[in-house]
Amino acid sequence: MTKEEEKQQLLDLRYLRMARIWAENSYCQRRKVGALVVKNKMIISDGYNGTPSGFDNVCEDSANITLPYVLHAEANAITKLARSSNNSEGATLYVTASPCIECSKLIIQAGIKRVVYGEHYRLEDGIKLLERANIEVKYLNPDDIDGM
Ligand SMILES: [Zn+2]
Repeated sequence: MTKEEEKQQLLDLRYLRMARIWAENSYCQRRKVGALVVKNKMIISDGYNGTPSGFDNVCEDSANITLPYVLHAEANAITKLARSSNNSEGATLYVTASPCIECSKLIIQAGIKRVVYGEHYRLEDGIKLLERANIEVKYLNPDDIDGM
């Protein structure tokens, strides 16, 4: 690994840990996911899984099934940018769990060029779609001390 790559690896790990801390904001019981969008070493957006604005802060029904209108962390981070003056062209998305196929579609269309995730989700089809769109996908264990 070159010095430059080592530096990037450390940054990736730190942003991923920040995304994990951000996930603590989620009021979802079953699963808390956090995401950050970083462009030119600036965090330009953030998100965690939750209901749309104005809805009750409850993600699950009485049978503990996730409600269909809950937005994933990546979707919240990307749509937050849609309301800002910034954009995600060429940005990196950090997300604590591997993106699902629905979020992967949004990631592609948002012009995001790299995705760093910290936990394998049950389905791999989202990752496969990202790779098909030539997006760099990288798995990191956020607890790695040296990032190697
Ligand atoms: Zn998703």
